[in-house]
Amino acid sequence: MNYKYRLITGVFSIIIGILLIGASILFTAATLTLIGILFLVVSLVYTLFVYSIEIFIKDKELDIEELKKQGLTVVICENCRRNNVIEDIYCIYCGERLEIIENNKYDSW
Ligand SMILES: [Zn+2]
Repeated sequence: MNYKYRLITGVFSIIIGILLIGASILFTAATLTLIGILFLVVSLVYTLFVYSIEIFIKDKELDIEELKKQGLTVVICENCRRNNVIEDIYCIYCGERLEIIENNKYDSW
């Protein structure tokens, strides 16, 4: 499941929750109101959770183009194979010491 699909599911659940509350008012059913409120709260928390996780992941990924513009050297960690900046000295993901190896540079592939 990707981010968009999860977000749509969350929003859809919120709509169902609102509809349940609306229906319960129409039929004056207290149990249905409780279910509707519960549904609404759960789906709201879920949607917010999905949304904040997405922002957190985006925040963690390095913007290669931006780093290059700043004159930093992008290298790949020998240990976990993720992009890093040599100026950081240590890998920001696994803590392995970063080294410049000619064919290890981001530019070469
Ligand atoms: Zn690493």
